[in-house]
Amino acid sequence: MLRTHTCGELRLSDVNKEITLSGWVQRIRDKGGMIWIDLRDRYGITQLMLEEGKTTPEIIAKVRQLGREFVVQATGIVAERVAKNDKIPTGEIEIKLSSLDVLNPAKLPPFLIEDETDGGDELRMKYRYLELRRNVVRKNLELRHKGAQQTRQYMDGQNFIEVETPVLIKSTPEGARDFVVPSRMNPGEFYALPQSPQTFKQLLMVSGFDRYFQIVKCFRDEDLRADRQPEFTQIDCEMSFVTQEDVLQMFEGLIRHLFKTVKNIDLPEVPRMTYADAMVRYGSDKPDIRFGMEFCELGKDLTEGKGFQLFDSAELVVGICAKGCAEYTRKQIDELTEWVKRPQIGAKGLIYARYNADGTIKSSVDKFYGEEDLKKWVEAFGAAPGDLMLILVGETTKARKQLNELRLEMGSRLGLRNPADYKVLWVVDFPLLEHGEEDQRWFAMHHPFTSPKPEDIPLLTTDLGAVRANAYDMVINGTEVGGGSVRIFQRPLQMQMFEILGFTPEEAKAQFGFLMDAFEFGAPPHAGIAFGFDRLCSLFGGVDSIRDFIAFPKNNSGRDVMIDSPSQIDQKQLDELKIATKA
Ligand code: ASP
Repeated sequence: MLRTHTCGELRLSDVNKEITLSGWVQRIRDKGGMIWIDLRDRYGITQLMLEEGKTTPEIIAKVRQLGREFVVQATGIVAERVAKNDKIPTGEIEIKLSSLDVLNPAKLPPFLIEDETDGGDELRMKYRYLELRRNVVRKNLELRHKGAQQTRQYMDGQNFIEVETPVLIKSTPEGARDFVVPSRMNPGEFYALPQSPQTFKQLLMVSGFDRYFQIVKCFRDEDLRADRQPEFTQIDCEMSFVTQEDVLQMFEGLIRHLFKTVKNIDLPEVPRMTYADAMVRYGSDKPDIRFGMEFCELGKDLTEGKGFQLFDSAELVVGICAKGCAEYTRKQIDELTEWVKRPQIGAKGLIYARYNADGTIKSSVDKFYGEEDLKKWVEAFGAAPGDLMLILVGETTKARKQLNELRLEMGSRLGLRNPADYKVLWVVDFPLLEHGEEDQRWFAMHHPFTSPKPEDIPLLTTDLGAVRANAYDMVINGTEVGGGSVRIFQRPLQMQMFEILGFTPEEAKAQFGFLMDAFEFGAPPHAGIAFGFDRLCSLFGGVDSIRDFIAFPKNNSGRDVMIDSPSQIDQKQLDELKIATKA
């Protein structure tokens, strides 16, 4: 081996040992007579030192030629440091150098490879392998590794077996666009990359595997955001002969295990909320329950008939109570009003009522509502003196959506969304279908294989919007980290579902005939879930972006700027694939 120890290993108890380390030169400090070098590897940093007069001129000369990120092998004696550094575990010792070999010189790196770096985003993406040398990024991948190992341990302990499913497949309907791969051997035909292994895991249940899981890459060609990547990883799971309750219990167990082993946090029992409740109380199917500020709907009795046209004609008048914000200045409120009026939020305006500390109430609609009226609002909001009530009006779905944004913004402004405070939630009883306004047709809210609640099956012929599904999401701090459902496992119901979704029987057969055929060969009742593994890791790391937890991520335009992909392919390849190019 080119070393006796790693750069994170040596302590006072090693003093006087002769050792050899190998690693990268992070920093060199040359103070005339004394030279110090910080040597880094995956495990840490160890200080090397040499003193003019006490070592040979050759080694001094060699050291003076070193540059940042040179790869060196250094031998010397462990000594106690005079000036100790309590910030690093090796800070009590240093190595008095006796010999040094340059294993490979390095060009000056384009940015500082230290905890605080000077490199911009794009540059660090281009030199991702250098970025990965930085502690912060490496630690993220170590956390990810731990998460994956612990997932396997839990799942194995529960009798799940890990099965790999194919990557070159046919479209799986998770609601995104497919990435496609042309088939050379079948000119004009394409594979699709899996948006998830959904159909395969269901087939594995038909095969009797009973409990399946896989830590698996999925591909979705969607517009990208900070928390999305075109390829991402799921912890994908499926079980047979279970109810929704069994699935919730099993995977609450997984999450509890991960919190304990990765974060050393004992997670309390995960509360549950129905989708309908979540929409009314938070205007979102993934509420952040780290803080209250629940919605308060002002009923017609509190708003109507006072001559305020906006309220009279509104479908919904709904607000939140911001604790202790009554002292917001006019300027602050104007700024909030502008904030909700931005196109991303789209509210027409913001109505407020201050419940002042002295007990008086002052609102932006004083012209219409007197003290007595406003007192009733205070009661409805459960406001205390010093609170500020912020109110939006409009069409129910829109007003809720807008108020959800405002609530989250106020939560952030008031410091109520600490990333180290974890609040986990199950959202259950999702609607089976949602109506697409643009296409004027029904879409599966989760995916087409999701089972309606048995008691709601009769509604399939009368009131599609009211059918609830046995579908569930796990939400952590306002982020959806997992979702799944109890599946349809009988051909007729699956056919009916495809019909509702606008498939002709021929289309359904062409796309999913294999699954419906399988349902006729003894498919067991089954259910499952998938967790976004990158997202889970970023939550554990207390960071918004999942990119930081992926070794080689793509940028916001879906490019890998390091390997420069996607890229054109040459004519010969195109010819082989029988893909015509534009003239
Ligand atoms: N395949 C689903 C998804 O990717 C998860 C599931 O239903 O198990 O969201």
